Amino acid sequence: ERTTVLITGCSSGIGLGLAARLAADTTRRFKVYATMRDLAKGERLLERLGGCCPDTLEVLQLDVTDPGSLAAAAQRVQGQRLDVLVCNAGVGLMGPLETCSDQAMKTLFDVNLFGAVRTIQAFLPAMKSRRAGRIIVSSSIGGLQGLPFNAVYCASKFAVEGLCESLAIVLRPFNIHLTLVECGPVHTGFLTNLQRPDPEGSEMRGLDAETQGLYRRYLRHCQSIFRDTAQEVEEVLPVYLEAIGSPCPPLRCASTALLAPLWRLRLSSPDGSAYVRAMHDLVFGGDGP
Ligand code: NAD
Repeated sequence: ERTTVLITGCSSGIGLGLAARLAADTTRRFKVYATMRDLAKGERLLERLGGCCPDTLEVLQLDVTDPGSLAAAAQRVQGQRLDVLVCNAGVGLMGPLETCSDQAMKTLFDVNLFGAVRTIQAFLPAMKSRRAGRIIVSSSIGGLQGLPFNAVYCASKFAVEGLCESLAIVLRPFNIHLTLVECGPVHTGFLTNLQRPDPEGSEMRGLDAETQGLYRRYLRHCQSIFRDTAQEVEEVLPVYLEAIGSPCPPLRCASTALLAPLWRLRLSSPDGSAYVRAMHDLVFGGDGP
């Protein structure tokens, strides 16, 4: 029997790549419900699969901020048992904290945190009653450690980490495995899709010159990190495939060892000051802006 997998955020990036990979699996052992907010963007996925929709794939509309669309998707899948739920939809928000609008912060949490909560809530009861299932959540390195000018994004991914770690404890007796995938930089639309103020733009008006300088410095650092170290979607997919296929997947899997030394520093020096200093020096150098 086929393993059924529902994935959120499949119009681009990691979700698109994972849906295409599973639907095109030569042993045809998966049935993929690729969901996306805007069905008009489904073309990209079909193109990947050679222009037509194989019987291993069904594309469904799902906006994780819309309880109605979640209920409809859950209803659609209800007849089939769902083996794997991949909560992948996510958005970014960058910039000095002073420039983050209330609306932008609320939207970010509505997608990254409450979107994941709602999606899990929609599919969890059926998994519990079958006493089987897997939930995989796209977290981030920014869910494990703070990153400069990503305070609100990191807050949302830290929240996702706390959500999942707490839930995993209760899901243990139900034989439901929950796995967080912590990606580092990945070449997707994420950087262009995220909200970020232009360092020369009007949002910066009123912000102190020193923070503006640090932000410009950070953007340069970020560009070079992406240029030199970002992974391709194909390189992070094995982590998701492992979480789908392994008999007993761990709670956390990092897709890259890029920030492992800083992560170890964070653990070995729990008061946090060594981490803050090391991250500051890594991004801004030791000699000020
Ligand atoms: P992406 O922007 O290509 O994909 C995110 C997807 O989520 C998009 O298809 C978008 O349409 C969808 N989405 C946004 N709001 C939605 C909503 N309300 N309902 C349903 N779908 C919605 O970027 P990606 O890199 O593929 O991101 C996937 C996940 O990986 C995200 O959770 C992101 O936080 C995480 N991540 C990405 C990176 C990176 O560098 N690309 C790093 C760490 C973590």
